[in-house]
Amino acid sequence: MSIPEVETKRLTVVMHPLVQHKLSYLREKTTPTVHFRKLTEEITLLLTYEATKDLPTEDYEMETPLEQMTAQRISGKKVAVCPVLRAGVGMLDGVLSLVSSARVGFIGMYRDEETLQPVEYYSKLPADVADRDVILLDPMLATGNSTAAAVETVKKAGATSVRLIAIIAAPEGIARIHRDHPDVQIVVAAIDRGLNERGYIVPGLGDAGDRLYGTK
Ligand code: URA
Repeated sequence: MSIPEVETKRLTVVMHPLVQHKLSYLREKTTPTVHFRKLTEEITLLLTYEATKDLPTEDYEMETPLEQMTAQRISGKKVAVCPVLRAGVGMLDGVLSLVSSARVGFIGMYRDEETLQPVEYYSKLPADVADRDVILLDPMLATGNSTAAAVETVKKAGATSVRLIAIIAAPEGIARIHRDHPDVQIVVAAIDRGLNERGYIVPGLGDAGDRLYGTK
């Protein structure tokens, strides 16, 4: 069965066969850490390709070895990639392999397992983040509480252009970001059924941090 691509101004679900194939293997409970890491990076690279497709370009004159031509290059702001610790770090190299000159900021956010509320414990953003297009990385957009707080953090630092790349989202998380940050474009590989009683996305893939770092 082929699933239609979902594309609105604020939400893109990337249904490319490579993304969906890799995502299925990522979800499987027997997938070992070494493959989980590689797949996370590869899926993020493919999502980055989609998330950056509206970056503005400009014409410029240059010479190939044969003749002069008018070519295109990306114009406008430079990029800041901001992974949310810790699972977002597993996505970082996927973005940097396409946008190698990006600056990197880190946001430490954990979820209080009882209240499910986010607690920020660390933030180190590029000094000029206000002048950059921010790509926020958080693989599991579950309740949206911690992701919305991370968006808040980069906006407080002055960022006015924020994209969010997640691997799997729950409808609740998407609604939360749409409600609190309607300007943020969300790019994901899948929207799952919902959340279980512990706030995990189902069917999901489990705890992304534990699976990336082999901590369980
Ligand atoms: N964080 C995870 O790692 N997995 C979930 O399902 C939800 C939040």
